[in-house]
Amino acid sequence: MGLAEKLLVKPGTKVRLGDIATDTAPGFKEKPDVESILRETASKMATLQYLMFAESKRALLIVLQAMDTGGKDGTIRHVMTGLNPAGVHVRSFKVPSAEEMSHDFLWRIHQAVPPKGDFGIFNRSQYEDVIVVRVHDLVPRPVWKARYEMINAFERHLTQNNVTILKFFLHISKEEQKRRILDRMKDPERCWKLSPADFEERKYWDDYQEAYEDAVNKCSTDWAPWYVIPADRKWFRNLAVAEIMLETLQSMKMKFPKPSFDPSKLKLR
Ligand code: AMP
Ligand code: MG
Repeated sequence: MGLAEKLLVKPGTKVRLGDIATDTAPGFKEKPDVESILRETASKMATLQYLMFAESKRALLIVLQAMDTGGKDGTIRHVMTGLNPAGVHVRSFKVPSAEEMSHDFLWRIHQAVPPKGDFGIFNRSQYEDVIVVRVHDLVPRPVWKARYEMINAFERHLTQNNVTILKFFLHISKEEQKRRILDRMKDPERCWKLSPADFEERKYWDDYQEAYEDAVNKCSTDWAPWYVIPADRKWFRNLAVAEIMLETLQSMKMKFPKPSFDPSKLKLR
């Protein structure tokens, strides 16, 4: 069984995040030579990225969500290194601007979807609108409740337009978050990453977990699956995301397009 199948939230079933270990490394008895595996995976992904660009028929969209310090940035750094940056669109979603707020919540998201031939990576996403928004009552309950269905319909629309979507929830424990915050506090080169909000948001840990649990259960679909990645061990998190991306790209069975003319009939002077 591939990693993808192990970590998938099977559409139509319900997971409990509290029952999914954050510090395991399914499929590994001990820590492997992570660097060399990642290098090999990246090189295979880069070949398929080139093929996807040549074909220009479809796009790949990676959605990363996690609690603060969960490792979204680190995953992007470690897993996407080795890809051709020309074809990768990384987009972080922050508190919506006044203009974004004046539109429906998917407006800013849709604009950031990668064009055919390219990869897109969302650091936060449409899911913030059923997570932080829900935890902090930023809109009334009936408004965010209706969004799960809208997100599913939107993602279906994208996949019907040849955008393959993979969604990763980087699952860390509350203790691991504490360790990471303490580490950052002590490290002058990483201290800047902390914000008072991280301390404040930690108080809402259980509410966030509940919001995430609902999001992955309601929105893991056949067309846009959620994967819950045990993410206390950064090396496993990186390998898992890379492996699932690679498995997905390989399953696309892409082909180089035939030239639209017969090159042998052209004279090169
Ligand atoms: P960071 O990723 O640390 O730069 O923080 C971005 C912040 O923007 C986080 O606190 C998110 O919760 C917040 N954010 C992202 N999307 C939304 C949204 N749709 N509504 C409200 N806050 C959001
Ligand atoms: Mg932050």
